[in-house]
Amino acid sequence: MSTTKVVDLRSDTVTRPCAAMRHAMAAAEVGDDVYGEDPTVNRLENACAERLGFEAGLFVASGTQSNLAALLTHCGRGDEYIAGQMAHTYRFEGGGAAVFGGIQPQPVPFEDDGTLDLEAVAAAIKPDDFHFARTRLLCLENTQAGKALPLPYLARAAVFAEREGLALHLDGARLFNAAIAEGVPAAEIAGHFNTVSVCLSKGLGAPVGSVLCGSAAFIDEARRWRKVLGGGMRQAGVLAAAGLHALQHNVERLGEDHQRARALASALASHGLNVTCHTNMVFVEDVPTARMVQVMDAAGVLVSGSRWVVHLDVDDADIERAAGAASVLLEG
Ligand SMILES: *Cc1c(COP(=O)(O)O)cnc(C)c1O
Repeated sequence: MSTTKVVDLRSDTVTRPCAAMRHAMAAAEVGDDVYGEDPTVNRLENACAERLGFEAGLFVASGTQSNLAALLTHCGRGDEYIAGQMAHTYRFEGGGAAVFGGIQPQPVPFEDDGTLDLEAVAAAIKPDDFHFARTRLLCLENTQAGKALPLPYLARAAVFAEREGLALHLDGARLFNAAIAEGVPAAEIAGHFNTVSVCLSKGLGAPVGSVLCGSAAFIDEARRWRKVLGGGMRQAGVLAAAGLHALQHNVERLGEDHQRARALASALASHGLNVTCHTNMVFVEDVPTARMVQVMDAAGVLVSGSRWVVHLDVDDADIERAAGAASVLLEG
């Protein structure tokens, strides 16, 4: 029997729960979480909040729901948030804040390092005048396109937001990748923000779920919005158990993904490809996407475009296979 494993580099969302995670899910103590009675959900929310240095956490179905609940809590109808032009919260969430909250987005282009230029943000803040939406919130993303935002920038952004009277939200879908890349506890990054959303279903390997963290009062209000959005789940402890397992076992190992991504990047570079890599993502430049997908697919390596993502279901042999297959990209 020869079944060659497919190497799936399309995203770090493709990971499957391992046996130990499934065991934790099966063994989870549960209750009705809409009544606040699911002990495993409560443990996950508290563990995440504590780890990031916040008073409270809220377990939600997805990162999109987490960011949306945050936006609806920070902003009211006729308010505005500032986010990156290519930010998930602006571009990849179906315009949810406008659809459900009457909240206007104000996009600003990302700088090359994934930051937003604070002078550009300042220029985008609307004057206090009834012609304009009220600018309430600044959203950053970390990692942004695989880049960890520089720590000194976060400190400056926090001072800036405070001075301008804006709340500061972090879409930290891959916050732990940023923390591992910078060699600091995640709380050191999270501490600059009023609210932080983290995904359990990306590099951490859980099948479902994100956690939104903030002050107790903020999370109370966000919990209300979660219910309004249809996100009140019942015996969700079976899902939260996967998240707890992920937090306990899959954070420190993200460094291995970063190492393998670097190994992949240098192998591709040695074949003459133009690549960049900061955390768990390798960006392959200058190769037409359709050709890239086709060539790699033929070799049993799935990529969805120029972004190749390393995650916990990718091992050293997979990296070698992907690098070997990619050498064909340079021919003809
Ligand atoms: C994946 C992701 C999210 C959330 O996505 P969901 O698929 O809704 O969980 C949010 N922000 C960023 C930057 C992401 O990569």
